[in-house]
Amino acid sequence: MASPMNPGYAMHPTGFPAAMPGTFPGYEGANQIGGVVPPAGFPQYTAAVAAPVPILGSFPGYEGMGPTGSGGFLPPPNTGYPSGPSPANIEWKIPSLSQDEAKKALHDYVSSKCCYGKDPVEQSEITNLVAHNTYRYRLETFTESREPEWAEEPYKGQQVDANIQPPPAPWNVPVDVKKFFKAEKQSIKIPYTSSLKPCQKCSGLGKGPCKKCDGRTKESCSLCNGSGKSDTDEQCMKCSGLGAMNCSSCSATGFKECEACVGKGQVLSFIRLNVEWKNNVSDFVGSQDSGIDTDKLKAVTGKELFSDQQVMVYPVVNFPDPAIAQASEKLVREHQSQYGQTSRIIQQKHTIELIPITKANYTWHGNNYSFTVFGQEKKVNAADYPDTCCCTIL
Ligand SMILES: [Zn+2]
Ligand SMILES: [Zn+2]
Ligand SMILES: [Zn+2]
Repeated sequence: MASPMNPGYAMHPTGFPAAMPGTFPGYEGANQIGGVVPPAGFPQYTAAVAAPVPILGSFPGYEGMGPTGSGGFLPPPNTGYPSGPSPANIEWKIPSLSQDEAKKALHDYVSSKCCYGKDPVEQSEITNLVAHNTYRYRLETFTESREPEWAEEPYKGQQVDANIQPPPAPWNVPVDVKKFFKAEKQSIKIPYTSSLKPCQKCSGLGKGPCKKCDGRTKESCSLCNGSGKSDTDEQCMKCSGLGAMNCSSCSATGFKECEACVGKGQVLSFIRLNVEWKNNVSDFVGSQDSGIDTDKLKAVTGKELFSDQQVMVYPVVNFPDPAIAQASEKLVREHQSQYGQTSRIIQQKHTIELIPITKANYTWHGNNYSFTVFGQEKKVNAADYPDTCCCTIL
């Protein structure tokens, strides 16, 4: 319920319980002109929903709803900020590539090209291998956001509970997370917000004029096109000469059941809570001077050296490469300030991978060449391979 801990859940001036019929604590702005002023920097919370229900009043905690509302359905502050140092005793052992492994990687690469000659790879000798390994730091922040909106559905005897008790505030509605770090959406009918109202589409009649016959109950005979006569100028067999037949769409009643309320004349109006989980991923790849474009390294995997998962992770501080520690500190701070305000951080995970990069130098016909093997996949970059041709399929 509304409390100073829940920004955006200011109480209605009249307080609660409802001082006027249909007014719900925490939902005041739902159908008022105005509503709460959105906190700066949260443009995604500008509400865009159908016209609210005039008779419904409003609910504390849902002030920003409706076309005139301003949103601002922010979660209560995250608790459980991380503390303590990051894990020590991380193994920094750097895997090395043997000459045979390097040569095999190049051989596989050359074989994958339609007309690269194999002579250079088969006849040359690798003169030396140089490690250019680097690290990738990855931070994943799994967030949940909640956005309430007015909704309607045909009334088929559902519970009408809007006046029983005040509804729970958006962030007090129990919702289960199915799987961490997986994007997902869910919609929930908020308890104690359901009420009946006349169907606007049919003005509460439950039916409307049949579109096919325009309410006239008859439609023109399809065989004689309304003339009542056949081609041979005899009486049309289909309509017995009347030229018209009972409307097949409305069974000659002239009316059709209203689809919005399935003929009941009233609909259930309620507040639907749209819950969305997102995984926000940021990568930082350390610098390396192998000549390989950092973008190429995004496509490969490395050897995981460190992994930690918590509600809120603590930046890695004692990593040998200071650039990684700096990236961790920066990204953790950015994620927690960026995602911790507009949404609720459910879980964070960060990893450090060692991306193996080995540059191999070799000579062929007296000239020096090199190629680079990178990633666990042993991808090859061999820009100066001496025996290529014009029809290379990249
Ligand atoms: Zn006819
Ligand atoms: Zn009809
Ligand atoms: Zn209707």
